[in-house]
Amino acid sequence: MESRSRAEFAHTLAIYCSDGRFAPACEQFIQQALGEAWYDRFTVPGGAAWLCLDALDLCQFEIARRHISFLVKAHGIQRVILIAHQHCGFYEQRCLSPERIEQKQKADLQAATCLLREEHPCLKIEAYYLRVDKEQPCFERVTLRKPDEPPPLSAPQV
Ligand SMILES: [Zn+2]
Repeated sequence: MESRSRAEFAHTLAIYCSDGRFAPACEQFIQQALGEAWYDRFTVPGGAAWLCLDALDLCQFEIARRHISFLVKAHGIQRVILIAHQHCGFYEQRCLSPERIEQKQKADLQAATCLLREEHPCLKIEAYYLRVDKEQPCFERVTLRKPDEPPPLSAPQV
């Protein structure tokens, strides 16, 4: 892997969990499957959950928002990649069933997308869910609503 530093800022930002069990798979996926040789990172436990007010107190939420806005503006970020993962301790501490956790993670990816779009309308945002199947990481694209699309009436209340 290339380790020299670069003079130019990356224009892509990846937001994912700091869990070291999954970080290498995320990096490989972003570089090889999504074609981003280098990119900025916002890695915190739970990843995109930090852009959802219900997961945190207002102060933490504001800090996350401010750090991300700084990167978007100062580095001219154009593309944002959000990744949530199975067996995420940040969500497991809420004692929900695995199905509810996955539902909540996907709802948070959508909520984070809405917030980012609101603040930075030009961003191209995509989201993925990392599942582990027979010890192999498997990335699934998460369908996000279009900016002008209303939430479905049957949206799960999580
Ligand atoms: Zn995690």
